[in-house]
Amino acid sequence: MYLKKIELHGFKSFADKVNIEFQPGITGIVGPNGCGKSNISDAVRWVLGEQSVKSLRGSNMADVIFAGSQDRRAQNLAEVTLIFDNSDRMLNYDYNEVEITRRLYRQGNEAEYLLNRQQCRLKDITDLLLDTGLGRDSLSIISQGNISNFADSRPEERRAIFEEAAGVSKYKKRKIEAIRKLERTTDNLNRIKDIVYELE
Ligand code: ATP
Repeated sequence: MYLKKIELHGFKSFADKVNIEFQPGITGIVGPNGCGKSNISDAVRWVLGEQSVKSLRGSNMADVIFAGSQDRRAQNLAEVTLIFDNSDRMLNYDYNEVEITRRLYRQGNEAEYLLNRQQCRLKDITDLLLDTGLGRDSLSIISQGNISNFADSRPEERRAIFEEAAGVSKYKKRKIEAIRKLERTTDNLNRIKDIVYELE
């Protein structure tokens, strides 16, 4: 699976429809300060379900809609679509291409989500991305702030970040849950043994 294309329309500084296509391998996006490079990663996080206005560098969600410029009127709709190549079926969805869209109208405040152009719930998208390393809280997007946190963190905190990235922490959490369940079951068994002892 890889991100093949991003389509932006009315999102932040992208007033007109812009398509950004990626080839497999590493892509660098370069440009002068303030030209909109970070707006592209904001767009990716937004489609993946980001709800934190602060982390999208705004004060309310409508700030993601093109606010107008000296020679352009503001837009009333922001729409971003991520198109993933899913020929390896890493996403549990039986299509070679998976398109995830988020839309927001200035009037309305309610976001719309679409999966392959069909309206869906945010939950359908988060469920689809579960365990793929792509969710909005995953480490697939590392911001400048994350990098300085990483550099400043203690070795054990840094290890936790590596474990999260390697997918180990999920198994550690499941192990803790399983141990707790075993303890509860042992307690229940002991209680039953006591009752049986009393009855005999
Ligand atoms: P740097 O290299 O300094 O980090 P950058 O290329 O990452 O910059 P961004 O932070 O992505 O730039 O873009 C900032 C630009 O986006 C600013 O010019 C800002 O005015 C514009 N911008 C942000 N939100 C909107 C919006 N809703 N409508 C119009 N323009 C917007």
